[in-house]
Amino acid sequence: MANTIIYWFRQDLRVQDLPGLLAAAATGKPLVACFILDDETPGEHRPGAASRWWLHHSLLSLQDELRGLGGELLLRRGSAPQVLEELVGACDADAIHCSRQYEPWAGALEQQLHSTLASRQIDFKRYPGSLLFEPGQVMTQAEAPFKIFTPFWRQCLRSSEPRRPQPPPVDINWHPTPPRGESLLDWGLLPRDPDWASQWPPLWSPGSTGAAERLATFLAGPVADYSEGRNHPARGATSRLSAHLHFGEISPRAVWHAARGLAHADPDRKEQVDKFLSELGWREFSHHLMYHFPHIVEQPFKEPFQAFPWLGNETALRAWQRGLTGYPIVDAGMRELWHTGYMHNRVRMVVASFLTKHLLTHWRTGARWFHDTLVDADLANNSCGWQWVAGSGADASPYFRIFNPVTQGEKFDAQGDYVRRWVPELAELPDRYLHKPWEAPADVLARAGVALGDDYPAPIVEHKAAREAALAAYGSIKG
Ligand SMILES: Cc1cc2nc3c(=O)[nH]c(=O)nc-3n(C[C@H](O)[C@H](O)[C@H](O)COP(=O)(O)OP(=O)(O)OC[C@H]3O[C@@H](n4cnc5c(N)ncnc54)[C@H](O)[C@@H]3O)c2cc1C
Repeated sequence: MANTIIYWFRQDLRVQDLPGLLAAAATGKPLVACFILDDETPGEHRPGAASRWWLHHSLLSLQDELRGLGGELLLRRGSAPQVLEELVGACDADAIHCSRQYEPWAGALEQQLHSTLASRQIDFKRYPGSLLFEPGQVMTQAEAPFKIFTPFWRQCLRSSEPRRPQPPPVDINWHPTPPRGESLLDWGLLPRDPDWASQWPPLWSPGSTGAAERLATFLAGPVADYSEGRNHPARGATSRLSAHLHFGEISPRAVWHAARGLAHADPDRKEQVDKFLSELGWREFSHHLMYHFPHIVEQPFKEPFQAFPWLGNETALRAWQRGLTGYPIVDAGMRELWHTGYMHNRVRMVVASFLTKHLLTHWRTGARWFHDTLVDADLANNSCGWQWVAGSGADASPYFRIFNPVTQGEKFDAQGDYVRRWVPELAELPDRYLHKPWEAPADVLARAGVALGDDYPAPIVEHKAAREAALAAYGSIKG
């Protein structure tokens, strides 16, 4: 039999618009498709608990898709280089194809594989597939990476349009006797005792079909309210595609062309579509930044923040994690995260600002909590999101802009629908006091059935004092 080709699925769990899979299929060689759960290679790459739930279901969906194409997905656990080496031997492969990843650990792994496999005449090929534009393709006139979003995105829009998505390969020459795989259930990716994700199935549909449906639903309705509605957590005006994009169940090119197609067909939607695409642009920007400045996943982008006097108070951190800070919009966000594996972007900014500025807790601590609890946890978007809020990132929000959790709540959840949903103990409070229950007169609290300190905590820090402490901490590194 001719030498086999291995397609190694990573964060590209789809068969549509997957250049590496198309190229592998086009060779006509016997093909083995595999996914490796690598919990051994050191680095920030192990999926967190919520991502594992998603991964389980996404792999089930990919298995179905590959069966539809006549093949199977081989599942293996272990160090990726070792497993690949074993598979190469077991099926006499002379080539491995995969999609590129941009995390520092993934880049190092790809380099390592490249040199070890090349020395054995195994062709290791990486293909683009997760981004609209490859890092290195969007540079300043001086051939330097962009550090500011607006000129970066302008340059992206001036580049040639991302190519149209491609259909899945037809006629794959599947290997007739692939090596045996492991059972997905044996991987224990789903939570047990307790099954904290038991309420998630109606909320999420991991996999390509779910991704395509979510995009279609979004473009058919909520996009009309995107520019303004995206700031209001109760409005449901965003796409919720982030986890699908992170796991590569849908390609950003497919999203781009579907959205552009809508704007073309209905010019009234153009402004909304452009805004939506610019958010995809932030995803691009974060990945390009991580590629050019890999230290940003651990270290501040802005050097002076190395000396920032973080405090780190365990009791306050626990109150934040549990949604018991006494600030309703913060608590609503943290509870939405815990109960659904997701948090609205506006609220992510508010809770991140609260942790880093009101509680002076290192952004990395917050990023780790998000990594474990978000279904869309993504090293580039998460690190850049946290650094943006903390003020230490590229093109970051200025440090002195400290979100006031009361006014943020009043502005973006004016009718209180979001807070009432996630902090039901405050549901009966009138709008006027919903975002600042400590200001409610005793009779108002009594009528709403709220005993502050018992049913719901008093604020764990006072906003004005916390703001002053944060500005003083910033002052200590500024000069
Ligand atoms: C502190 C903090 C942490 C974050 N952590 C993550 C994370 O781990 N994973 C993640 O995917 N996003 C993260 N974000 C970005 C953003 O909050 C989510 O991408 C967005 O809320 C997902 O919802 P959506 O799919 O409905 O977004 P939409 O508004 O529909 O946007 C469409 C897509 O654009 C991308 N996008 C939108 N906003 C951003 C942004 N600010 N930065 C980068 N990409 C963006 C996402 O892929 C998103 O799915 C973080 C933001 C902050 C402030």
